[in-house]
Amino acid sequence: MSYLREHLGTKLFLANLVVIVVGVIILAITIQVTLPAAFNNHLGMMANGEMGMGMGQGQGQGYGRTLFENFRASMFQSLGYAVTASVIIALLVSWFLSRRIVAPIRTLTNASQHITEGHYEKRVEVNGADEIAQLATRFNQMATQLEQVESMRRQLIGDVTHELRTPLTSIKGYMEGLVDGVLPSTPETFDQIHREADRLSRLVDDLQELSRVEAKAYSLDVRSVTVSNLVQTTVKRLTPQATAKRINPHSNLPADLPPLQADEDRLTQVLVNLVANAIQYTPEGGDVTISAARQAGEIQISVKDTGVGIPPEHLANLFTRFYRVDKSRSRNAGGGSGIGLTIAKHLVEAHGGRIWAESKGDGQGSTFTFSLKIAK
Ligand code: ADP
Repeated sequence: MSYLREHLGTKLFLANLVVIVVGVIILAITIQVTLPAAFNNHLGMMANGEMGMGMGQGQGQGYGRTLFENFRASMFQSLGYAVTASVIIALLVSWFLSRRIVAPIRTLTNASQHITEGHYEKRVEVNGADEIAQLATRFNQMATQLEQVESMRRQLIGDVTHELRTPLTSIKGYMEGLVDGVLPSTPETFDQIHREADRLSRLVDDLQELSRVEAKAYSLDVRSVTVSNLVQTTVKRLTPQATAKRINPHSNLPADLPPLQADEDRLTQVLVNLVANAIQYTPEGGDVTISAARQAGEIQISVKDTGVGIPPEHLANLFTRFYRVDKSRSRNAGGGSGIGLTIAKHLVEAHGGRIWAESKGDGQGSTFTFSLKIAK
């Protein structure tokens, strides 16, 4: 039964079979019903013909015919009724069955027309489990995907507009102040303008990188990577920022860590992002520790800081683009755009890994961890 539900070909075959069987049954029943009457009729006419021989030839169908001819005539008469009845019934049954099979295809055609017109909320009802039902399920999945992409596109345009407007308004304000003579043309004013322009340019770079990783428009150059190399490169790259805040990032790596199979540049990008955040959100003189551990077939790399911490309700959203715990705080503290962790998540997931954040709350420091499977 389930085989039947899942195969359109079998359904079509059975539909044809039903039409044939119904046709044959109607044929048989009609012959059964009409043949005796027709035969009696012809026999009666034959008997009359024999009794009234003097009436002459050709005065009625049965007159002067043999028994066989009368039988054949009554058979053809009955067959005529039977064929007519069975063809009509078979046509009705075929029409009904083909309507049932074609109806879902029509529904799908209508729904795809809606999608083409941009009504991505349109879904079709899925009945049964045959190929058309599978097509309807896929169609609904495609529509959901399109709806999500469309809503992300709208959201992204809204977010980008908002993010670009802030520094642009600021630059415009400074320029107007300078032109009107309200602001002094001192190096400090120009430095402020430069900082805003710098923020714009970083935002554009981040957006470009985000669109690349979201579209998966890059390839992973997977090689053997040792965690200690990864940590060294990261710390070296962030020395200026760390020194400026009197933070000395230290590492805690077990000696027997197996190498990872990963793209070294991409993993460095992830770790640099986590350590740069740790430095940025930790007050001067705080602690930043990079550690690694082997855990059930995975290597977990963590960056722990003693910084401002993250309230629990924000933890799940940190990896969503443009999400910032305290918008004004991160802007003033170096102009973060809230894109770095989104990029990091994409890169870790491209390696088949996971990334998450932990914190006991405001002022309690944070720990960001990503895990990657150890190559067998
Ligand atoms: P940003 O460029 O704003 O730092 P991220 O995507 O890297 O963007 O981080 C998103 C937000 O997560 C930050 O704005 C900040 O609020 C929070 N965050 C990230 N790392 C830390 C950390 N180590 N301590 C506290 N908050 C953090």
